[in-house]
Amino acid sequence: MPVSFPAAGRWIAGSGPTLQTINPATGALTAELGTPTDTEVAVTCEAARQAAQHPAWRRMKPHQRAALLHRIADELARSGETLAQLQMVENGKSLKECRAQAASAAATFRYYAAVCETIEAATPPSRGEYVNFTLHQPYGVVAAITPWNSPLTMEAQKVAPALAAGNAVILKPSEITTLPALELARICERAGLPAGLLSVLPGHGRDVGAALINHSAIGMISFTGGTATGRMIAETAARRLIPAALELGGKSPHIIFADADLDAACASVLDGIFEGMGQSCVAGSRLFVQRGVHDAVIERLRVAAQTLRIGPPEAAETQLGPLASMAHRDRVESYVALARSEGGRIVAGGSRPDGLDCERGAYYLPTIIAGLSNAARVCREEIFGPVLCVIPFDDEADLVRQANDTVYGLACGIWSQDFRRAWRMAEAIEAGTVWINTYKQLSIAAPFGGFKESGLGREKGLTGLRLYQQVKSIYVATA
Ligand code: NAD
Repeated sequence: MPVSFPAAGRWIAGSGPTLQTINPATGALTAELGTPTDTEVAVTCEAARQAAQHPAWRRMKPHQRAALLHRIADELARSGETLAQLQMVENGKSLKECRAQAASAAATFRYYAAVCETIEAATPPSRGEYVNFTLHQPYGVVAAITPWNSPLTMEAQKVAPALAAGNAVILKPSEITTLPALELARICERAGLPAGLLSVLPGHGRDVGAALINHSAIGMISFTGGTATGRMIAETAARRLIPAALELGGKSPHIIFADADLDAACASVLDGIFEGMGQSCVAGSRLFVQRGVHDAVIERLRVAAQTLRIGPPEAAETQLGPLASMAHRDRVESYVALARSEGGRIVAGGSRPDGLDCERGAYYLPTIIAGLSNAARVCREEIFGPVLCVIPFDDEADLVRQANDTVYGLACGIWSQDFRRAWRMAEAIEAGTVWINTYKQLSIAAPFGGFKESGLGREKGLTGLRLYQQVKSIYVATA
């Protein structure tokens, strides 16, 4: 029997084709999952529409909604180990990272519980004989579509604020990682979320995802994934005239000025690209190094990259697990071959590791490439793997020109002891998040999203709740 999923308030096996997920560390089958047909997607959407409109949900007081979100957070915290294991056996991230992501999912629900209870609306200054109020109301049903790299954090980041804002949610997880979403639904059920407010529809984007976002009950789409898919989602949203929040790809610049603390900068560069095997939207995949320290930095990185411990994700000493699938490793390998053909010099990695079963496990060595310009394809396209390209720069003007010469604008890291210079660069570089003398520092309280083709809209923070609401102005006559 395939694993069932929650749709329209009950768990069903689904009449669509069965979906398999594979453990990328061993090649073994992880799960066989039921998927919905188009009709089952439609039934789920209609049920969500009704659940969203139910007076008990619509009129629930903010403090009651907050209490519910706190109960979900409690259950998430209790189930942290289960959630971490479920993510690990589907995307291969190290157990340590999966545990941290499970803890962050619980924290996200707590944060939105607090936001829900404390956020206020405006009363704009009156320009006549009336009082003006601003109401923020839910869209109704939100379609949340997520990628495979960090389902634990991404799904909490969408489901928590969308529920806090008063919507029903239908979550379409990646076809590579479905189990964490199903567990989240079980947890929400245990915590007392009324039936039909969170459904999870497993399956491929081209069929289940497309059927979902085209249904008339969907009032808003929250998508995280690749830029090409995001463009398709935006086209559907434009045709249907519904809002779409898009968190997309990146090719983020990590920058080292000659005056930087090189020990700290090099450690941060390695974490910034190799943590999670580079399968992070904010991975610092283009390293710009000021010419005076370029060769010294490459030598430090070469030595340090060789000490990274790659191995089975469940092992305590493992820092880097496998890539998320064999197909993804093929893609990463083809990019490294391309870098070689473009004249790149492989400083570290560039092959599969010795001593691990690379026939069954999607392992690959962290790879550093030098000798290419920012115009090379490997410096322009998102690889989403453990591949760092090192590019020299001369001065601030040269750096800003090169760093901004990309279609992406998600994140950026700047290392310099000169704070004024770091600030100038932070203002000049086109990115939704900039780190100065740190990298990948993320907070649920701070808005997150992309410039340019890295996305539209901002998740997290107070903005992350407003993303799931529409504004209504009410005028009350006083004369
Ligand atoms: P993807 O775009 O292939 O898939 C993402 C999701 O969209 C999956 O659930 C997929 O099934 C679904 N989908 C695909 N086609 C669809 C369609 N036509 N209609 C509806 N849904 C559809 O991305 P991926 O390979 O799963 O994830 C990697 C990408 O995600 C990278 O580009 C990465 O940068 C990006 N990402 C961005 C962020 C961010 O916050 N900006 C975070 C994580 C990952």
